Amino acid sequence: MTEAGFDALWSALAPVGRDSRSGGYRRFAWTGEDLALREWFASEATSRGLDVTLDRAGNQWAWWGDPDRDGPGVVTGSHLDSVPDGGAYDGPLGVVSSLLAVDALRARGVVPARPLGIVCFGDEEGARFGIACAGSRLVTGALDSDRARALTDDDGTTMAEAMTTAGVVDPAHVGRDDEAVSRIGTFVELHVEQGRGLVDRDAAVGVASAIWPHGRWRVDLAGEANHAGTTRLVDRRDPMLDLARLVLAAREQAERHDALATVGRVRVTPNGTNAVPSSVQAWLDARGAAAGDVRALVAAVAAEVGTEPVEESWTPETEFDPALRDRLAGVLNGAPVLPTGAGHDAGILSGAGIPTAMLFVRNPTGVSHSPAEHAERVDCLAGVDALTDVLEDLLR
Ligand SMILES: [Zn+2]
Repeated sequence: MTEAGFDALWSALAPVGRDSRSGGYRRFAWTGEDLALREWFASEATSRGLDVTLDRAGNQWAWWGDPDRDGPGVVTGSHLDSVPDGGAYDGPLGVVSSLLAVDALRARGVVPARPLGIVCFGDEEGARFGIACAGSRLVTGALDSDRARALTDDDGTTMAEAMTTAGVVDPAHVGRDDEAVSRIGTFVELHVEQGRGLVDRDAAVGVASAIWPHGRWRVDLAGEANHAGTTRLVDRRDPMLDLARLVLAAREQAERHDALATVGRVRVTPNGTNAVPSSVQAWLDARGAAAGDVRALVAAVAAEVGTEPVEESWTPETEFDPALRDRLAGVLNGAPVLPTGAGHDAGILSGAGIPTAMLFVRNPTGVSHSPAEHAERVDCLAGVDALTDVLEDLLR
């Protein structure tokens, strides 16, 4: 029954935002794909008799029971948006597993002693406006609403304009929502692992210990636009050379500081084959086990390039609630406990003081943020079982 249930939900999601050439997904905030996913979630939740609501940040909630009368509740869920050309599992696996866990709890005859909520956070990847976990940051107040409204995408569209076009939330009222947050007594997010930790431990499901500190910086490199055929090398101010230095410095400093650094996104102006660029913007993503090493890495890169990077986001180390983590590992008969370098909405909620935990489902190659991201169906089903066991325990 679970297999058929899983396949039905999975195949309904499969075509939304899928690029037919790469097989990857483009599911960005406040686009038509986003709206289709929101509709799918609301309809699946409603068909299960759950009460679907929207918070002031535009995140979707589906409640079994009344969190205002009997809460705070136990909340699970994840996100449905993707990075550019992302995989099918990052986010959706958690949402699909949450819906199936509700089915499984009912099939087991569980009568929850407190309300159970499923949340579908918006704009987790930050693929369009550059701020990861925008939905959970907004609702908890970690992202200022004025700043959010003014963020722009690559076409110069502001988040406020995108929200208006989508018509889901009124950007004028977007922001922190203490009432929605107060309904969360405990949060558990199931997610595909984005590494090979569970492969190494020979386990289908694991429990997260911590999320590494991580941040994003924008580096503005100025130059002078000119003709590629007539401008002597000596006369050029070519910001692409600074970009090259930036990329190499990021790699070198990451190795030196035992951390990770990535330049995965650049904006070249005017982006013409036969023109020296007038400017280049690049984004540096840096993470590591120790915050001090990450900060030192970014400072060293900045010194080498001679430009002060603009910090767009910073998330300190998240250590998940130790008691909750141990409780989950116990329910799951000693499932392995492991850290991750990937950020999640769970990290934002944990930072807001909510007891939070995560479950990871084995990723056989470790590849994520790529069309090649994968999890075996049998492991996904083991994830649903694990989430069901955990929720049943927490709902007592
Ligand atoms: Zn994710």
